[in-house]
Amino acid sequence: MATVLIYDSIHEAGLDVLRARADLKIVSVPANDEARLMAALPDAEAAILRYYSFNRAAVEAGKRLKVIQRHGVGYDRVDVAAATERRIPVATVGEANSVTVAELALYLMLAGAKQGLVLDRMTRAGEWKARESIPSIELFEKNVLIIGFGRIGTRVAPRCAAFGMQVHVCDPYVSDNVIRAKGYTPVKDFRATLPEMDFVTVHTPLNDETRHMFDRATLVRMKEGAVFVNTARGEIADNAAVAEALTSGRLFAAGFDVFDPEPPGTAHPLVVHPRTVLTPHAAALTRECNRRTSIRCAQNALDAIDERLDPSYVVNPEALRR
Ligand code: NAD
Repeated sequence: MATVLIYDSIHEAGLDVLRARADLKIVSVPANDEARLMAALPDAEAAILRYYSFNRAAVEAGKRLKVIQRHGVGYDRVDVAAATERRIPVATVGEANSVTVAELALYLMLAGAKQGLVLDRMTRAGEWKARESIPSIELFEKNVLIIGFGRIGTRVAPRCAAFGMQVHVCDPYVSDNVIRAKGYTPVKDFRATLPEMDFVTVHTPLNDETRHMFDRATLVRMKEGAVFVNTARGEIADNAAVAEALTSGRLFAAGFDVFDPEPPGTAHPLVVHPRTVLTPHAAALTRECNRRTSIRCAQNALDAIDERLDPSYVVNPEALRR
């Protein structure tokens, strides 16, 4: 009998997929109970990870693992090199959360542009005249730069276009022809175009190339009054430098779903800043997405146990070569 280990919980729909298999044992370990996780790993064929950082020690404890399955698409906290050495595929949920995150990026753009949270607070406080003193801006006919044209970025683009925005795309790993064929403007050097961009939204993975991609030197290149949105990873932008750019007026607003560190706490520079719109790494937590994600996690776990895991979900395909 194979064992699927679930670290933290997944939606019932995913559990139902696993429960439908009689030859399976499901072991759930509560969030943050690292000792129990390490004790359970040696018996597991599949590990489904919600929020855990899966380091080398965890990979090595999982002696029978046939898959390390992320409940999401980010894998920057999984020691992929250690997994590859042990020939363990690391899988994500592919497109299960792409539309969901794209919608949140649009929400953050709109809430920042419209100063929605500020106006909401003032309306409730009876400060009706605030409508004359709180400026807001439009998306219509504005330049938006989408950095990263993968599953999420490709879904943000048409949503921006639907608002009448001029869509610019920077992704060094996607050919200009592909971007042009969709009706968008390819950008080679994103820093060079920043002075023209009214909105910038980031959809890259976190890696050595993208860590602090938006540091002080980059942020000062941005157009006066731009809106910056980050639903990718907190460390892609220097969070303190973004807060400074808001204070100086370089940025009109910033929308963040992800922080450095997480959780950011109550004194974090973006949390205390009045011109930010924030969500607690909740971009993919809609009811629909939780359901889809849990089903994909369960199916990938079963497929890995049955030795027919779809390689398109695997981030280290070298691990599949036996
Ligand atoms: P993806 O792999 O499909 O797309 C990422 C794209 O970024 C790729 O097209 C890649 O070529 C491009 N890229 C890589 N380095 C780049 C660089 N230096 N400059 C420009 N483009 C670069 O991934 P995805 O599903 O679109 O997700 C993107 C990221 O969003 C994930 O890595 C994850 O960190 C984050 N994410 C966050 C949440 C959330 O809850 N906030 C949910 C899902 C994903």
